[in-house]
Amino acid sequence: MATTSFTAPKLSSPTLQSLYRNFHVSVPLPKSLSSFSRRFSPSFPRFHQQYHRLQRRRLFSVRAESENGSEPPRHYDFDLFTIGAGSGGVRASRFAANFGASVAVCELPFSTISSETTGGVGGTCVLRGCVPKKLMVYASKYSHEFDESHGFGWKYETEPKHDWSTLIANKNAELQRLTGIYKNILNNAGVALIEGRGKIVDPHTVDVDGKLYTARHILISVGGRPFIPEIPGSEYAIDSDAALDLPSKPEKVAIVGGGYIALEFAGIFNGLTSEVHVFIRQKKVLRGFDEEVRDFVGEQMALRGIEFHTEETPQAIVKAADGSLSLKTNRGTVDGFSHVMFATGRRPNTKNLGLESVGVKMNKNGAIEVDEYSRTSVPSIWAVGDVTDRINLTPVALMEGGALAKTLFQNEPTKPDYRAVPSAVFSQPPIGQVGLTEEQAIKEYGDIDVYTANFRPLKATLSGLPDRAFMKLIVCAKTNKVLGLHMCGEDSAEIVQVEASLKLVITYSMRFSIKFCSWFSDVYGSLQGFAVAVKAGLTKADFDATVGVHPTSAEEFVTMRTPTRKIRQSPESEGKTDVEAKSAAGV
Ligand SMILES: Cc1cc2nc3c(=O)[nH]c(=O)nc-3n(C[C@H](O)[C@H](O)[C@H](O)COP(=O)(O)OP(=O)(O)OC[C@H]3O[C@@H](n4cnc5c(N)ncnc54)[C@H](O)[C@@H]3O)c2cc1C
Repeated sequence: MATTSFTAPKLSSPTLQSLYRNFHVSVPLPKSLSSFSRRFSPSFPRFHQQYHRLQRRRLFSVRAESENGSEPPRHYDFDLFTIGAGSGGVRASRFAANFGASVAVCELPFSTISSETTGGVGGTCVLRGCVPKKLMVYASKYSHEFDESHGFGWKYETEPKHDWSTLIANKNAELQRLTGIYKNILNNAGVALIEGRGKIVDPHTVDVDGKLYTARHILISVGGRPFIPEIPGSEYAIDSDAALDLPSKPEKVAIVGGGYIALEFAGIFNGLTSEVHVFIRQKKVLRGFDEEVRDFVGEQMALRGIEFHTEETPQAIVKAADGSLSLKTNRGTVDGFSHVMFATGRRPNTKNLGLESVGVKMNKNGAIEVDEYSRTSVPSIWAVGDVTDRINLTPVALMEGGALAKTLFQNEPTKPDYRAVPSAVFSQPPIGQVGLTEEQAIKEYGDIDVYTANFRPLKATLSGLPDRAFMKLIVCAKTNKVLGLHMCGEDSAEIVQVEASLKLVITYSMRFSIKFCSWFSDVYGSLQGFAVAVKAGLTKADFDATVGVHPTSAEEFVTMRTPTRKIRQSPESEGKTDVEAKSAAGV
């Protein structure tokens, strides 16, 4: 077994080119094989055996060279063996197979709760993250909507009641459907799916529950799992996996953590009428987000009845004789919780994966270190998604998986592009953001103009609820480029995202564009989504020149005319007045 430690190779294009010259493996899948795959899907075991045989035959016939060109030829079972069928692994495997590679992916057996031995095709996003969470958000939003409806004339004899078990049963049925769809996606692409726990044995061999598979490239896409810090009584705490699958509604819940997962669950339980307390170590929620957005969302959530305990660090959980839980912090004790949930971060699933023995380097948190092409310190082993702890979001894992497939099997070295990745927090109200925060923009550019709007949305005028919306544009004073765009308020996630799709639509298909736009216009009235605008480097003048969609909250982004403040901190601005600085910047 190779135990040599490699230094992370910097994979320049020429290096890759020579790699491909030596090992080009992109032989298109023979037609017979595709039809075979169709014929035998989805009866997996039979398909698997036959597919395996065919693949071996094909691979043995195409392998001719060795890694350094001097050793005898080496034959592999697969071109790519992927460990973990979550967002990144499925995307990389499917794309690689479409590019003609022979691919296998192994995944743990299905469960709604993840562990060393359970997981499921689809991964965190589909089974324990984005999807179930969003379904719970939908469920929880009704209570606010019922409250809003009174001002619009709705009267009910009795208050609507929520049936928890219906929600959980329907949610779980949907997860089963989705995991099935993901299996079909792999099957239809001709990817062999192997159920079991993968472990790396050497740079080209993976052990799945005692069976060995060899591959020219190994991809690690095992994601991460929630992490509960060890404090006395931590065995009574639940994590986000369990919180998505509770047998009954929590009556009173403590949520520890101020990140996006904590806020989303606070909104979910609050909307489903639990009493919710959020405990955060810092003064504000959502570290890393724009400061004004952090303040705004905290205030709005508090108005909906969520109690924030700031600068409180949990020290112990105590279980009383009646089963209720008390949370002790550095500031005191709060009693009477039915549940204490920790949303204090996630850890990469890199334990017992054979990485140390094979020489794959990890950082101190156990995340795999990769270069810009997702290559680890072992040249034949690659890693994408949360296990690399770059930006832990599904679309990023998808991008990394897709880029890797192109790099390896399409002779097109592709680096994932992390510029202006938009993100959302499905808190209530939700947040959408893209680009830099005000603090980052000042650091990077020095001179910026900040436009903000804090207003009562039209709906709140009749609902009578204290809901507000906050929007913010950060503009480079020198170039007039929009550097950051942030929103907290109803539909903000959709508003920020739609523009991302819009760019593709405009670029690729005018006809689709019209259909797409009118659909979104109907559903959300939010055609001023702006992620692409920011990524494409559009200027404030472009925003100003765009006609708004009326009446929407989103139109505010194209009607902000006067900066709320101008910040001048670049060395050239020193000593100049605001007006001078402005004219020097040509604004
Ligand atoms: C509560 C929650 C909400 C979230 N909401 C959002 C959101 O709204 N938007 C967003 O973009 N992102 C969201 N995320 C993050 C998103 O889910 C992840 O970024 C994404 O799933 C990462 O994909 P991945 O492929 O890296 O890993 P995963 O999807 O975690 O997939 C890894 C897979 O590997 C399997 N595995 C692990 N070890 C082994 C092994 N040894 N052998 C075989 N298989 C193994 C696991 O079972 C799992 O299926 C959320 C996450 C959580 C927890």
